[in-house]
Amino acid sequence: MKRHMQRHAVIAAVLIYAAAFGGSLAVRLSMPVEMTATDVGRIMQARVHKIVSVRNTEDIAEALAEAKRKGLKIAVSGTRHSQGGQTMFEGAIVLDMRPYRQVLELDVQRRIIRVQSGATWAQIQERIHPHGLAIRVMQSSNIFTVGGSLSANVHGRDPREGPLIDTVESFRLMTADGRILNVSRTENEELFPLVIGGYGLFGVVLDVDLRLTADEVYAEYTEPLDYNIFPDYFQRNILSSDNVGLAFARLSTAPNSFLKEMYVTRYERTNERLPDDRQGLKEESAVEATKFLFGLSRKFDWGKELSWSLQKRLFSAEPGALISRNNAMRPEIEFLEYRDTQKTDLLQEYFIPTDRFVPFVDQLRDIVRRYRLNLVNITVRYVPENEEAVLSYARGDRFALVLLLNHKTSDTEIHRLEEATRQMVGAAIDHGGSYYLTYQLFPTKDQLLSAYPSAEMFFRLKTKWDPENLFMNEFYARYAS
Ligand SMILES: Cc1cc2nc3c(=O)[nH]c(=O)nc-3n(C[C@H](O)[C@H](O)[C@H](O)COP(=O)(O)OP(=O)(O)OC[C@H]3O[C@@H](n4cnc5c(N)ncnc54)[C@H](O)[C@@H]3O)c2cc1C
Repeated sequence: MKRHMQRHAVIAAVLIYAAAFGGSLAVRLSMPVEMTATDVGRIMQARVHKIVSVRNTEDIAEALAEAKRKGLKIAVSGTRHSQGGQTMFEGAIVLDMRPYRQVLELDVQRRIIRVQSGATWAQIQERIHPHGLAIRVMQSSNIFTVGGSLSANVHGRDPREGPLIDTVESFRLMTADGRILNVSRTENEELFPLVIGGYGLFGVVLDVDLRLTADEVYAEYTEPLDYNIFPDYFQRNILSSDNVGLAFARLSTAPNSFLKEMYVTRYERTNERLPDDRQGLKEESAVEATKFLFGLSRKFDWGKELSWSLQKRLFSAEPGALISRNNAMRPEIEFLEYRDTQKTDLLQEYFIPTDRFVPFVDQLRDIVRRYRLNLVNITVRYVPENEEAVLSYARGDRFALVLLLNHKTSDTEIHRLEEATRQMVGAAIDHGGSYYLTYQLFPTKDQLLSAYPSAEMFFRLKTKWDPENLFMNEFYARYAS
C-alpha cells in the first residue's frame, strides 16, 4: 500500500514538473531580446551605452575612439559564459566579438591554426577534423569563443595538458592606444601572460595562433569507486599510464551517496579503427529529453538518485567503446540551457592540491549541507602545474572540482550563497588551493589575494598598459580598488 502511494506521488510530481517544463519552454521561445548586458548566470546585469557587433578591426578602433571621445569604458564579450560581470560594465560600450569569427589559416604540417577571437571551438573542430587534427586544450564543451577562453585561460579533460596558455603560439592585440601589437613569448612578451587569463583588461584579442594535436582514437572505460581512493586511483591508472588521452570523474550529488561515490571515465589510446558511423563529428541529440531528466535532478532528491543510477549505468554500458578525440571533446551541453524566472544555475570551481582532495571534499560536504545548497552536479578534472599566466590557478598539480548549483536569485538567497562561497573558497585556500576567477564575485579581496598572490602585480601592470582604465569590467571594479 505504502509503495503504491509512493509511486502515485512520484507520478504526480513528474506530471506537475512536466507541465511546468512545457510552460517554461513556451516562455523561452517567446522571450524578448535583452535590453541590458548580462551573462548566462543572470545574477549580474549592467545598463550599457551600447553593444557593438564586431565584424572587423575598424569596428573595434571606432568603438575605442568613441569611448575616449565620450569618456566611456570598453567591455569585451564572447559567448558570455563567465558569470561575474567580466563581460560588462555600467555605461560601457560592449564589444560583442561573436561575429568576428573567421578561421583565417590552417597549417596542417605545423599543426597550427589562426582564428579570429570570436570563433568557437565548434568551428575549429569542423575545420580541422577532415585533416585528422584535434584541439589540444579547450573546455569540456565546444560552444565558447577562443577570445573568451584565452582571457580565462581555460582548462579541459586532457590530464597531460595544462591550461590553454600552453597551446597558444601568439596573438594580435589592439591596446588602449589603438595600436595593434603582435604578442608572443618573444614579442611584446610582457603582455603574453597578462592577456591570457587577463579577462579582457589589457586590450582586444584580434586573432590567435593555436597549436593543435592529432585526432586519436580512444577506447572509453568508466569505473565506480569511493572518493577516499580517488587520488590514488587517479595516480595509478591515469597519471602513471602513457596511454590515457582524456579523463574526468564525477562525484555523486544523490542524497544516499552524497559526495562519497564517484565514477571515473578514461579514454585510452588504441590502434583500432573507428567504425564508419563514428568517423564524422557527432551532433547533440535528444536535447529536450536530457533537459527534462536534468530538470528532475534540479528539483527533487529522487531525481538526483535516478540521475546518478542512470549515469553510472549509461557510462559503463559499453566498456571499450571507440570514439575519436574530437568527438570525446564534444559532450552534450545544450540541455543545460535554463530559464527559470526565480532560479538560476551557477558554476563554481575549486583547484585543490591532489593530496588534499579527500579532506576538501569532506569540508565541502559539510558546507553544502549547512547552507542547504542545491548541488546538482560536480565533476572533477586534473590540471598539472602551470604558472605561466600571471593570474595562474594551477600553482601546483590540482584536482579541479566544478560545482553546478541551482539557486534562487532573490537578494537574500544570493547573500546566503555568497556566505557559503566564502566558506568554500576559504577551505580551498586553507588546503593550499585556489578558485576560478571566471565565476561570481563573491570571494573577498583578501581571498583573491591569497589565492592569486600575483594579483597585485596584475593590477599594477594594468595601470601601466591602460592608464585611463579604458578596458573595464565589473570584476576589475570589484577587486582592483
Ligand atoms: C556551462 C559552462 C561550462 C564551462 N566549462 C568549462 C571548462 O570545462 N573549463 C574551463 O576552464 N572553463 C569552463 N567554463 C568557464 C568558461 O570557459 C569561461 O567563462 C570562458 O571565459 C567562457 O568563454 P566565453 O566565450 O563565454 O567568454 P566570455 O564570458 O564572453 O568572456 C570571458 C572574458 O573574456 C574576455 N574576452 C572575450 N573575448 C575577448 C577578446 N576577443 N579579447 C579580449 N578579451 C575578451 C571578456 O572581456 C571576459 O573578461 C564553463 C562555463 C560554463 C557556463
